[in-house]
Formats: sequence, structure tokens, C-alpha cells
Amino acid sequence: MNCTALLATVFMMKSTFHEVKKVSFTIENNLSTYFSDSQLQECLSEINEVKKCENIPVVIHSENSVQKSTFIPRYSHGIYGGDLGVYHADSKAIEMYACNFLSALDHSKSLVKLTILAGLLHEFRHAIQHQLMPKTFQNIVDGVKVYHRGFGSQYREQYIEKDARKFVERTMNKYHEAISESLHVNKEWKYKNDIIEIDGYQLMF
Ligand SMILES: [Zn+2]
Repeated sequence: MNCTALLATVFMMKSTFHEVKKVSFTIENNLSTYFSDSQLQECLSEINEVKKCENIPVVIHSENSVQKSTFIPRYSHGIYGGDLGVYHADSKAIEMYACNFLSALDHSKSLVKLTILAGLLHEFRHAIQHQLMPKTFQNIVDGVKVYHRGFGSQYREQYIEKDARKFVERTMNKYHEAISESLHVNKEWKYKNDIIEIDGYQLMF
């Protein structure tokens, strides 16, 4: 490498450094017994794909905080009938209902952490879809386009749901190392075919 090239390299590194912006997400974390705000912030700021979601307000409810919420979850009967998270297309905000599955998953703290993260990434993907396809989302809000809820194939086969699940799997695997480190989770976990596997437990998304 000659001197000019070296200088150019140094300059490029310098300008890249200046462009690195501290990312901070807008999150109310009522589940701090599982992960601190700074752990979650650190983890999310590693994930380039969600940087444009910084301004999307997120509330992570604990069992206690959901009672104070003005929003009543549509399904509130635990993991088998409960929403894990919701992206509200009308208010452009996300709510995560840890309360819907904490009692079922309490066997493994790591599983809870990864589930919350994967659920949050899923809802962030809906927010990104909304930015990319505003008309589709407006049609859902207005009821022009029917959106199926629940856990059946009608729900799972919808384009926005398939795309969100693929995004989560791709992202969880791409940042496996960074996620494990920032959330203090044992690296021996897998995310494959919509299923998280850790500590001998499996959870399907
Ligand atoms: Zn979804």
C-alpha cells in the first residue's frame, strides 16, 4: 500500500467514525427484572436493520404494568391465546405483552429475554413495513384490507406476517453473538423454522 492509499484509508476510517451516531430507542421497560434498559438498548443498537425504528415508542408491559395500561389486550388468556406484541398502525406505537406468557416461560430467564427480543423485532418489522408500504397498512387500519388475527394458518400465511417472521429469524441469527453478549444469554441457543430453542425449551413464533 502506498502512502496516498494509506492516507485515503485513514480518512475513510475517520469519516466513518464521525458518522457513527449513538442510537437510543424509545422504550418503557417494565420488565427490568429480566433485562435492564441499558442491556436492551445496547442489544438493539447493534442491529442495523432496526435503526429506523428509534422513534417508534415501545412499552414492554410486565404483569403489573399492563393493568395500568389503557389498552386492553384482545387476547388475554396467557401464551396459548395471548398476543406477544402489537404494532398499532394508527398510533405507530408498539406494546409488548410479556404478561401473556411470563408464567408459562418462567422456567428459563434466557428464553424470556430472547422471546421479548424476537417479539420486539417482529413488531419493528411491521413498523418498517408500514414505512415501506403505507397504503397496505392504511387499508388494514381502515378495514379495507381484512387482517386475520389469532394463531391459525389464515393469520400465519398473511404476507406481512410471513415477512416479519423471516426478518426475525434472519436477524436473530445474523446477530447471534452480539445478542447473547448484550442480553447475557448462554450462546447455546438456536433459532430455526420459527422456533427458538434454549435450555431444553422450544418456543414457536
Ligand atoms: Zn405480526
